[in-house]
This record gives sequence, structure tokens and C-alpha cells, in this order.
Amino acid sequence: MKTKTKLTFGVGALFVLIVLLAAVSTFYINNLKSDTDNILTANYNTLEYSRNMLMALDDVGRDTSALSRFESNLKRQISNQTEVGEGEVTRKIVADFNVLKSDPIDSAIHAEIRRDIAELTRLNMDAIVRKSEIAKETAESATIWISVTGAGCFLIAFILLVNLPGNIANPIKELTESIKQIADQHYDERVHFEGHSEFGELARSFNTMAQKLEEYANSKLEKLLMEKRRIETLIDNMHDPVIGTDEHGTVLFANHEAVNVTGLGKSELVGSPVAELAVENDLIRTLVREPTGRDNREDRDPIKVFAHGKESYFERETIDIDITPTGERQSRRIGSVILLRNITPFKELDSAKTNFIATVSHELKTPISSIKMSLDLLEHPATGTLNGEQHVLVDSIREDSERLLRITGELLDMSRLESGHIQLNMQPSDPKAIITYTVGATRTQAVQRGIDLVVDCDSDLPMMNIDAEKSAWVLTNFITNAIRYSPDNGRVVIAVRKGAGVLRFSVQDAGRGIEPRYRDRIFDRYFQVPGSNKSGTGLGLAISKEFIENQGGRIGVESEPGLGSTFFFELPC
Ligand code: ADP
Repeated sequence: MKTKTKLTFGVGALFVLIVLLAAVSTFYINNLKSDTDNILTANYNTLEYSRNMLMALDDVGRDTSALSRFESNLKRQISNQTEVGEGEVTRKIVADFNVLKSDPIDSAIHAEIRRDIAELTRLNMDAIVRKSEIAKETAESATIWISVTGAGCFLIAFILLVNLPGNIANPIKELTESIKQIADQHYDERVHFEGHSEFGELARSFNTMAQKLEEYANSKLEKLLMEKRRIETLIDNMHDPVIGTDEHGTVLFANHEAVNVTGLGKSELVGSPVAELAVENDLIRTLVREPTGRDNREDRDPIKVFAHGKESYFERETIDIDITPTGERQSRRIGSVILLRNITPFKELDSAKTNFIATVSHELKTPISSIKMSLDLLEHPATGTLNGEQHVLVDSIREDSERLLRITGELLDMSRLESGHIQLNMQPSDPKAIITYTVGATRTQAVQRGIDLVVDCDSDLPMMNIDAEKSAWVLTNFITNAIRYSPDNGRVVIAVRKGAGVLRFSVQDAGRGIEPRYRDRIFDRYFQVPGSNKSGTGLGLAISKEFIENQGGRIGVESEPGLGSTFFFELPC
């Protein structure tokens, strides 16, 4: 039965019973009322008239109004005859009263009237007893019927009270639970209230919906699995090693190349936390190492691995995967992908280039040196005297050969650095001696441009354990650049200051300065600020950086475009 029908039926029956109860009560109350009214008007009045007639009869002979009082009560009695036999007795009293009027002192007639009135009283008393019985019966059946109807009302109300709330609330509760399960993607959830009520229909519709969702989810799962397989195959076929981890650092996938270079089995890799793998495996340890963020050599250098039967070089890139779940604002990390880019071919080309540059610059150095020696011989008086023009030409050749020698020297240094053949010669060194040497080596250039070289050193500088030759090379490079980029007749200040555990060497010029966007790049190999003097190689600062960082120092520049630059390096003391 439908819930609506149940409710209509239950409440309707209750309503009908309440109306019935009211009708029955009204009916019986009315009955009781008419019974008592009946006794009051029909019998009580007759008794009243009879008493009055008896009193008037007693006064006949003594009171002149007695007969008329008797007559008036008799008249009322005539119009109030309600019981069987009452008419006959009344008519007898009327007849006797007529006799009494003609002979008021006749005691026989007095006695006759008294007997008649007594009969009248008895008739009405009997009627009162009988009518009281009827009223009592009416009251009893009223009690029975009102009780029956009341009990019916109570029964229906009780049935409704016990069944209705559960009938409505239980399915809603079960449905709410099931909806929650569906929301949690448990699509196999079903509701179980059957029947023909609205809830039965609701349950059937809900179950159909859940079934369709389940089918949809399964078909989606199949598609997802297909997509997953496709992506896995794609990653597997990539020539670069790829390792994916979840947010807890557990390996989720690793392609063939990753398995190859790490030397671990796929089953060993997948499902294991990288932190545990890193304990045993050097490569994994390098891969999961957090970058120091200090432009460190360790962060910059490619990772060297023995793979494919030779030394291979890889560049690491870690991509963090963040997602914003549906309905949320905050994104959260769900894992990361470690990508190793195989740069071995580039590395091989680079080392071929380095070898070539090293060979060429080495081969060029000897002839250039002999050109310089020949020039010296040419200028020597023993080989004859040169005229003015020849002197100018010889000077120009010397200048060019010196520049060539510097360039080949820088190229050779760079190639040595790139091939890792540079050796540091750390020895206790006097910073003042380095300053004196570099200023001496660059003085001629400064004088040619009318530039004043000013030395400003702290007093009592400590001895330092450094490679003095390479540090002097860097300082010379700073001063040469400062002279080159200063206006004629300018000033270059060479300073050495004591800091916390370091000595800071700096060269300040008042040249054109360096724009902020180029400040980091000038330490890169072969980089020259656009528009600057092209006679250099762009290697001086790159070599300087390597020399200083190899000694555990720090190199940098402070510059204000248009106002000048201060190049500095700090070395531990
Ligand atoms: P180069 O041989 O070109 O001087 P460097 O490595 O010594 O190579 O310098 C790289 C670039 O930095 C230069 O080309 C120049 O543009 C810029 N630079 C170096 N020193 C200064 C300076 N004192 N003032 C302005 N620019 C400078």
C-alpha cells in the first residue's frame, strides 16, 4: 500500500471515528436530556398540581378561594395528561369536582376526590420510576458506544503512532546512508526496502541509478586501465630514464632506461621507498639529493653513469606534480617525476671541441712565442737599426702577438678546466705580494690609457693558504677589464679587506657598469655583454670563477650602470 494511501486511510479513519464519537455522545446526551425533560414536564407537574388540589380541597369550607384554586390546578392537569389511564382518572376528578361545587361540605365526595388524586399521583410516580429506568439504560448504552468508538480511535491512533514514523523515517535513513556510500564511490551499494509504496519505487529507481553508475565506473575503469597501459608503454619506450614517485617518495613506475642505468630490477625499484634505495644505490642517492640552491658545482655538473657500455652523462630534472582536488582550493603534492636527460652525445662533442681547442692553442703558443722572440731580436742593435716606421710596425706586431698569446693562454686554461686537468697549488701566500705583482703586470696598460691604479689594503693582512698564481691571474683579469672598460685618465681602485674568516680582493672602476640582466651571465663561458669590446674571448671571468670556486672561494660583481663596477673575490684565510 502506498504511504499516501496509508496516511489517508489512517488519518481518515481516525477522523471518521472522532466524528462518530461526537455524534454518538451528542445523540445519547440528547436522549438523556429528553428523558429528564419528559419526567420533569409530564410527571413532576402533575404531582405539583395534585398537591395543590389536595391543599385546596382541605381549605374548602374555610376559604372561599379554595374552589377556584382547585379548579385552576385541575385545568392545568387536564392539559398535562401524559400517562396511560391518567385521562380516565382526570375525567373522574372533573366529575367529582362538579359534585363538590354543588355541595362543598359533602365529606363522601371529599374522600372520593382524595382517592382520585392519590391514583393520579401513583400513576405519575410509576411513570417516573419507569422513565428513570429508561434514562439509566440510555446512559449505559451511551457509555458502551462512546467507549467502543473511543477505543477504536485509540487503536487507530496507536497503530499510526507505532507504525507511521518508522514507515517514513526508516527508508529515508537507509536511503541517506546509501547515498553517502555512492558518494564515496561504492557503486555496489543497494537499498532494500521493497513493496508498492512510494519508497519501494524510490528504492527501485535508486538501485537502477547505482547499477548504471557501477556499469559506467567499470567501463571508465577499463578505459583508464587502457590509458594507463598506453602511457606506461610510452614512458617505457622513452630513451631517457624516467622514475615516478608518490607523495611519500615510494617509486610508482620506472621505465626500461631507468632500470638500465640504476642497475636495479624493476621489481626492486617499483614499490620501494627511494630513501631506502638511496642507501644502497649511488645513482638513486644522487637523484634524490635536494639541490643546495647555492649554484653549486654538484648541482650544475651532469651525472656520470656507466651505461650502454661506456661513460654516459645525464642531466637531472625533478618535476613536482601538484593537483587541486575537485571542490578544494588548496593544491597538494601527489608525487614527483625524476627525468634524466641523456646528454652523452653533447658531452662527447664538447670534449672533442675542448681537445681541439687545447691542441690548437697549444700548437699556436710556440709559434707566437717565437714571433715575440724574433721581434725582440729585430729590435736588438746587433740585428741592425730600425727606422721610425719599422718601429711602429714592430710595436703593432708585438701588441697583436701578445693579445694572441693571451687568447691562446685563456683557451688553453679553459680547455684544461673543462677536461679537469687543472691542478691547484695551495701554498701559504702573502696577499700583499699578489697585489704588488698584479699591479706591476698591468701598470704599462694603465699608463698607456692615463689611468691611475690606486692600491687600498688593510694593514697587517694575514698569510693565506691559496694558489697564489691563479689568484693573481684572476686579479690581473679584473684589473685588465677595469682598465679596458674605464674612460681614459680614469681611476681603478684595488682593495683588500679583512672579513669574517675571509679576505676580500676587489677592483673598482668608474666605467660604464653592467646592466642587472647581464650580471649573472658575464661569468658564463664565451659571454660578452652586447656592444662591449670584441677583442676579448669572453672566457676571462668564466676561468676566474672556476679558479676561485676551486679554492673554496666566492666571486661576484656589484655594478651600477653608468657609474662603474666592483669585481671581487673572497678566499678563506
Ligand atoms: P672578455 O675577454 O670579453 O673581457 P671576460 O670574461 O673578462 O671576457 O668579461 C666578460 C664580459 O664582461 C666582457 O665582455 C664585458 O662585457 C663584461 N665586463 C667585464 N669586466 C667589466 C668591467 N669592469 N666593466 C664593464 N663590463 C665588464
